[in-house]
Amino acid sequence: MSKIELITFDLDDTFWDIKDTIINAEKNTRKWIEGIIGEEVNWGTFEDFMRIRAELAKEDPSLEYDLGMLRKKIISHHTKQYFNNKKEFDAFVNDAYIFFLEERHKVNFYDDVLLVLEKLSTKYKLGVLTNGNADVNKLGIGHLFDFSISSIDVKSNKPDQGHFCRAREISKVNFEDTLHVGDHPINDVLGARKLGINALWFNLNDANWDLDENPPIQFKKWSEFTNILEKNYGN
Ligand SMILES: [Mg+2]
Repeated sequence: MSKIELITFDLDDTFWDIKDTIINAEKNTRKWIEGIIGEEVNWGTFEDFMRIRAELAKEDPSLEYDLGMLRKKIISHHTKQYFNNKKEFDAFVNDAYIFFLEERHKVNFYDDVLLVLEKLSTKYKLGVLTNGNADVNKLGIGHLFDFSISSIDVKSNKPDQGHFCRAREISKVNFEDTLHVGDHPINDVLGARKLGINALWFNLNDANWDLDENPPIQFKKWSEFTNILEKNYGN
């Protein structure tokens, strides 16, 4: 049995539900933008959004992991027609992005997450590995973690090894003494496993594991976490 020294966590859909958070952030940012512009903007459908996103990423592949820049480009795409002055436009896009980011951090933590993290932080090194652009420092929980790694830091997304390798570099903890916790079967569980990192699956909705014959240890409530950790990785 390995001796866990470092526990790394995914953020979105692991500590909070991301869908409602993003929908609200998007809605409020659009309202904010229309308030500045003084008229309704044609935002298009969700399919349009995905198409624009794909086109932008094709032009500039770094947008696959630079969500901040991607968001700014999407805002620009919809609003450039309303501005003549480039300086004013750039400042507006920047402000709109800052507004979005504030809204994007209005998350509702799942029950008991914070309690569990407080407890773990006294015993383990803790880290964050996220493909998104949430910042634990903006959420007032930065003090619980030894480090936080986003896609922009490693220029790649999980399940690629960038986040995991950087975590080992910073913490000096071997993969076999690391446990990664996340909701995504591929990005989190398979990504970690491939490198020999222990993985724990946060499976809130009781999804079936159909990726291989070896279902990961899983939990669906944060109140179960400490027991599962002790049972499977305790000394
Ligand atoms: Mg996630």
